[in-house]
Amino acid sequence: MSDLFKKLESKIDKSIEKGKESLQKSKQFFHGSGGDFHHQQHHVSASNIFGNGGSTNEKAWQNWAGNIYIEPEKIFRPSSLKDLKEIIRKAKKHGKKIRCVSSGRNTWSSLSVTRDYLVIVDRLAKVEVQKSEKYGWIVTADAGATIKQIDDTLRVHNPPLALDSMTQLDSVGASGIVATGSYGVGLEARCVSDKVVSVQIVTADGELREFTEEKDSLEMSAARVNLGLLGIIYKVTWRVEPLFNLRLVDSQPLLKSSFHPAAIKELYSNADSLEIVYWPFNESEFDFTHDKLWVKQWTRHKDDENSSEIANKKLAGQRIRAEYETKFGENQLYKVLVNSPECTPYISNLIWKTGPASKPQDHVLHAPDAIHHQIGGDNVPYEDLEFAFKLGGKDEFGSAIEEFRFIISKIYEYAKQGRFPVNLTTELRFVKSSRSLLAPVYDEDPNAIYCYIQVLAVRKTLEWEEFSSELAARWINKYKARPHWSKHWEYVPGIKPHLHDTLSGQIQKFEKVRAKYDPEKLFFDNESLKEIFYGVPKADAASSVSASVS
Ligand SMILES: Cc1cc2nc3c(=O)[nH]c(=O)nc-3n(C[C@H](O)[C@H](O)[C@H](O)COP(=O)(O)OP(=O)(O)OC[C@H]3O[C@@H](n4cnc5c(N)ncnc54)[C@H](O)[C@@H]3O)c2cc1C
Repeated sequence: MSDLFKKLESKIDKSIEKGKESLQKSKQFFHGSGGDFHHQQHHVSASNIFGNGGSTNEKAWQNWAGNIYIEPEKIFRPSSLKDLKEIIRKAKKHGKKIRCVSSGRNTWSSLSVTRDYLVIVDRLAKVEVQKSEKYGWIVTADAGATIKQIDDTLRVHNPPLALDSMTQLDSVGASGIVATGSYGVGLEARCVSDKVVSVQIVTADGELREFTEEKDSLEMSAARVNLGLLGIIYKVTWRVEPLFNLRLVDSQPLLKSSFHPAAIKELYSNADSLEIVYWPFNESEFDFTHDKLWVKQWTRHKDDENSSEIANKKLAGQRIRAEYETKFGENQLYKVLVNSPECTPYISNLIWKTGPASKPQDHVLHAPDAIHHQIGGDNVPYEDLEFAFKLGGKDEFGSAIEEFRFIISKIYEYAKQGRFPVNLTTELRFVKSSRSLLAPVYDEDPNAIYCYIQVLAVRKTLEWEEFSSELAARWINKYKARPHWSKHWEYVPGIKPHLHDTLSGQIQKFEKVRAKYDPEKLFFDNESLKEIFYGVPKADAASSVSASVS
């Protein structure tokens, strides 16, 4: 055993050395030598100054994961409705396209990429609570307000209020999560766009328009998840409810004996939200029969204010620890996974034993604290493939379990050959269908249950793309699965023709609304979406999904 540790120690030392070199390289990478998407515009106008629609002198923008680096012609940070209108006027005058980002930069796909005008709405961050006759308490957030800002405003309101469901990350922006149909904790909550009662968008004619169910149901179902294609989102309004408590319970059952449809159905039926996580190599190096699952259940809890206050204080300590764990030595532990993949089983095991396995939770918390319990998840840039497919038949959860097991068996199959393309978690979450036309879980049947399946690896892990493409192709072929728009999916062979076919009905309806508000395609500046909406050139279509399954 001590030999093994010495070997591991020396590998870590070497890897830290390598890490220093790669840090230098990654600085170059981030500062211009290129991400997966790399659009450069060399002639940055000298007249880029503040004011003027929020025009800045920033030359480049990069997303959080570091796979996108762009140098658009102009970057704007508007701080008023007037600014938004001015940007649109200017773009039309100069024949430029517009794409937007909210506050979080948390999108892996090319949705934010443009050569022309990039509009970053993070200076639009006002949050306002009101009472509506129809919906009760509502919160209206500017496009760039983060979920944390919204949660904090609701919590100190009299009476205290909360959103009933949300993404686990709270640094994301209101317009970013709505435009992409993100989802979160809350089985019945569907995707976060479904609880939206109004979306205010400045459309291509420079007018501010409000989309609501009452005004036009079809237009609202297009506006809920609009991928930035209807204009610049200015404000989003959600229904909210009195602040409530959630009990968050972790359990770690054995994968071998506990992972079957009846067990999952029971977990699902007894919780308001359920997440099943697998951490690779968590109990032994090359034998998954001893591995554990990590199951998280959120359940509404009628408890007095005090117990959640105490739990919140205890959790604060755990959060500090999680921050340090994920930032430790500038993420050196995670960098070892990339630089010395052969160490993966040992490092992964170490992280599990000192991290998740060592502190299973059972807390009653205020809803926002329970929903955003995970801290440090955004300290380590990672690759993320996430697809949704519908569960059905009498073994409702059978297909989700089959696919989860398939991933784990593949991880071990690769490991036996000394290959480690997955070094972070594999995750399953369940939600009911959405009525937002372009949501990955859109369905006419309001009772349909969808599973989201997600696989992660530290950014730039060897063979990640090959491994994850194989999984995606399998889900597309078996279930006509659809990707989470924000995650990584554009490299999957044949995905665009697949989405063109699968979404054709929804796209047709969406297009009627889009063409009405943006006939000149001012906001349609995305190659992937063009291929999905209008079809791909014949040569590309030939690389069909089934051909890519090995
Ligand atoms: C660590 C981490 C955890 C995550 N957890 C979850 C999760 O639990 N559930 C989930 O579903 N997703 C999750 N995500 C994904 C995340 O929700 C999406 O990437 C979301 O888009 C991020 O919000 P943002 O503010 O960063 O969006 P941005 O990246 O800023 O914007 C996304 C896109 O929305 C559009 N857009 C944004 N603002 C506007 C605007 N004002 N007008 C018009 N279009 C606009 C643009 O097309 C833009 O490309 C996670 C991501 C990370 C990095």
